[in-house]
Amino acid sequence: MASPEPGPEVSDATRVLQRVFGYDSFREGQQEIIEHVVAGGDALVLMPTGGGKSLCYQIPALVRPGVGVVVSPLIALMQDQVDALTALGTRAGFLNSTQGSEERRQVESAFLKGDLDLLYLAPERLKVDSTLRLLDRGKISLFAIDEAHCVSQWGHDFRPDYLALSMLHERWPDVPRIALTATATEATHAEIASRLNLTDARHFVASFDRPNIQYRIAPKNEPKRQLLQLLRTEHAGDAGIVYCLSRASVEKIADFLVDSGIQALPYHAGLDARTRASNQSRFLREDGIVMVATIAFGMGIDKPDVRFVAHLDLPKSVEGYYQETGRAGRDGQPSTAWLAYGLQDVVQQRRMIDTSEGDAAHRRRLSIHLDAMLALCETVECRRVQLLAYFGQKSAECGNCDTCLSPPESWDGTIVAQKLLSTVYRLHRERGQKFGAGQAIDILLGKTTDKVVQHDHASLTVFGIGTELRDTEWRGVVRQLLAQGLLTVEGDYGTLVLTDASAEVLGRERQVMLRREPERAARAARADKAAKPGRAAPADLPEEAVPVFERLRAWRGATAKEQGVPAYVVFHDATLREIATRSPSTLVELSTVSGVGENKLAKYGQQILDTLAD
Ligand code: ADP
Repeated sequence: MASPEPGPEVSDATRVLQRVFGYDSFREGQQEIIEHVVAGGDALVLMPTGGGKSLCYQIPALVRPGVGVVVSPLIALMQDQVDALTALGTRAGFLNSTQGSEERRQVESAFLKGDLDLLYLAPERLKVDSTLRLLDRGKISLFAIDEAHCVSQWGHDFRPDYLALSMLHERWPDVPRIALTATATEATHAEIASRLNLTDARHFVASFDRPNIQYRIAPKNEPKRQLLQLLRTEHAGDAGIVYCLSRASVEKIADFLVDSGIQALPYHAGLDARTRASNQSRFLREDGIVMVATIAFGMGIDKPDVRFVAHLDLPKSVEGYYQETGRAGRDGQPSTAWLAYGLQDVVQQRRMIDTSEGDAAHRRRLSIHLDAMLALCETVECRRVQLLAYFGQKSAECGNCDTCLSPPESWDGTIVAQKLLSTVYRLHRERGQKFGAGQAIDILLGKTTDKVVQHDHASLTVFGIGTELRDTEWRGVVRQLLAQGLLTVEGDYGTLVLTDASAEVLGRERQVMLRREPERAARAARADKAAKPGRAAPADLPEEAVPVFERLRAWRGATAKEQGVPAYVVFHDATLREIATRSPSTLVELSTVSGVGENKLAKYGQQILDTLAD
């Protein structure tokens, strides 16, 4: 789309970008969005995590007269957001339930006097009459609705308080609104637009690709060992997030990592608020912490240098998976999204769906989400192509996911599928017995286990007809048949059950293609990837810059500690890296480094030059 001739507002926006934020140029999509909102238009913005959504409302709020009101569900992070804005020399505040009344009064008074550029609010505050009256008495430049997917019931993170946000338009029809989210399939997108009354707004849909993230999905064999290997061989000393499904497994894995000498902390809704806040704050403030968490953790965490996100259990939806993995590598540096998944995950999730509260339509929705996730896990195609297709976008094969780096072979698995399905059929139809995958595989392998003897399975015609595959390979077959809908599981023990489509395979009307897991993990091919054009270069520094970078990092750590803010609020790694490499000797030279705005230059410039001169 051609951008209009830059008018006075645009140069204002560019000036703010350069002076306040210290960035040279806008990223893809930012300028158009900012121009549109500065001019008073409504916008719905879909942009991946790390794409740079915050500037899309922060700059208009700084350029337009009045206070920009940002609605965000992330109470625990508001302080950090305000700190980061304050460090840039802007005037920001928040109102939420964590404040005392005196602090609240000060913020309210600053708002009324127009002494704020940005005011962060939790959505539930907008249900309170006194907040509405307060907003009525001040001048509002715009409403930004962050994490807008929270309004969608189809999406994965519905928050009822968000439904009330449709009233913003009714109550303040002249104030522009910008809704932003990093997660939106077409269904979620449409729902956000209609629920927030944004159907007439301009929609900006950026590419959802995150080229610096390497996607890998591995069969889960020994999850702890696999995780440790990933951390030790590829991410030693890196900050990262490990997602687990349950609180118990969070605790277990965090203990295990600590015992293995890794700085890990747990995070889940069962921990008391103080521990949660303290663990989150350490993760944000200290370098190299691994957070082991349920999905209660992470929304809005804008730590730029999270180097990996590992999932030890299957996410419930592709949207959730993409949102969670998107927390890696916001700084654009190479990062890993690694998921281990196994049969037990499918059993567990099906059971959770079967027993979930809500009506049949709700369960059907959950089931569709799970099927899409399984299809992603078992694909023989490029993961990125498949992920982006899920969000309605096209991409070429990426060269930076496990299936591109070591392509799995696809093979004709019709006969083995028939063997497995017949086993399920015979157990069920002929014997009236229902069993899970383990038993079916023992029968196929002809193992005389206690159960096999007890139920006389050795007399089945299928007994021992599957010795061409090993146990783990059979488990892979079961997983893939589940993913393809040729088999399903039921009940607490994951009983295998045939589907309508199974009959087509048994009746030889349908061919079944399966993926063979590559022997080696994609890891080996990882080294090649950095050399690929178009991919982010590794974060490596020239050798002589390394000690300088470390000195700058130490200075940053001490400064952040002194001010009680996360290190990245002082400067991002990328900025320190550029300083270390270019080694500027004057303030003017330093001011041209990306991420050094006017305020930070004035505040830290001399200290940086002194640190460099040391
Ligand atoms: P999102 O909210 O979309 O996940 P953020 O707004 O947190 O992304 O931006 C991600 C990172 O990119 C932040 O560190 C931000 O400072 C940086 N960034 C945003 N816009 C630009 C730009 N135009 N130039 C350089 N860095 C940018």
